[in-house]
Amino acid sequence: MKENYPRTLQELESRFRTDEACRAYLFALRWPDGWICPNCSGRTAWAVRRGLWRCSQCRHEASVTSGTIFQDSHLPLRTWFLAMWHVTSQKTGVSAVGLQGTLGLGSYKTAWAMLHKMRRAMVRPGRERLQGLVEVDETYWGGDEEGVVGRLTEKKALIIIGAEAVGNGIGRIRLLRIPDTTKESLRGFIVHAIEPGSTVRTDGLNAYLVLKGYTHDRQVQRRRPKGEHLLPRVHRVASLLKRWMLGTHQGAIGIEHLDHYLDEFAFRFNRRTSASRGKLFYLLVQQAVQVGAVPFSTIIKPQPLVVVESSK
Ligand SMILES: [Zn+2]
Repeated sequence: MKENYPRTLQELESRFRTDEACRAYLFALRWPDGWICPNCSGRTAWAVRRGLWRCSQCRHEASVTSGTIFQDSHLPLRTWFLAMWHVTSQKTGVSAVGLQGTLGLGSYKTAWAMLHKMRRAMVRPGRERLQGLVEVDETYWGGDEEGVVGRLTEKKALIIIGAEAVGNGIGRIRLLRIPDTTKESLRGFIVHAIEPGSTVRTDGLNAYLVLKGYTHDRQVQRRRPKGEHLLPRVHRVASLLKRWMLGTHQGAIGIEHLDHYLDEFAFRFNRRTSASRGKLFYLLVQQAVQVGAVPFSTIIKPQPLVVVESSK
């Protein structure tokens, strides 16, 4: 399916008036060359009932939503499509309270879980690492954050940010919560997020020294005109990120869920120049049928910090 997506909310509403229309769209994105058994990769199946197929090789039954973020949801697909539209069509996204109101959902928890499931689909499987000249620095979230005091847990989170330098502006970004600023954590992020051979620009922090496989451009703090930053792109991203977390989400972000908010922020930021918001909707739906099911238990479970092996 060649980038076929609605351009406006009206277009979305008239096109996806029924769950059947939604299913057909998901089918075209998930199985562009026809049904494939998720269990044995067999290509022939018969319809058990509407929207459900049984593999003729292994008898496995699969619908277009099984093994996707829509699995086990009791909501109509139409509601999901509207939710994905609202999340992608607004520059700043939408909070759980906002989504609950817009869609008229019965509970906050439902809206909250939908958003978290959508966030799982905001990371494209096999996405490319950053490259070229990349600024890297850390920032804190929580604790001293203005306006957040008293509403978050006392915990503070450390976030590392990579931002490609493109001319005077910013290319793509990557963000990750890290446990500390040890060499292992910092280099782990670099290897995970940045293509070898790239130039990594950091501050003078010693833990960044000796970056094998990368050209290291180490900026040491000298006297600078007021307001000028050593790493202006990372600094800009950090302030936009905080503005978004305090604005759209009112600072009400559990530290244990922070990584997924970072994913959402990067998803939107990296596509900020996209000509059409419908294109973001398309990408989200496309990834929603690729990333696997997201059981509710995996959303509420506190997540361990990702410590990326730097030896890879
Ligand atoms: Zn099969």
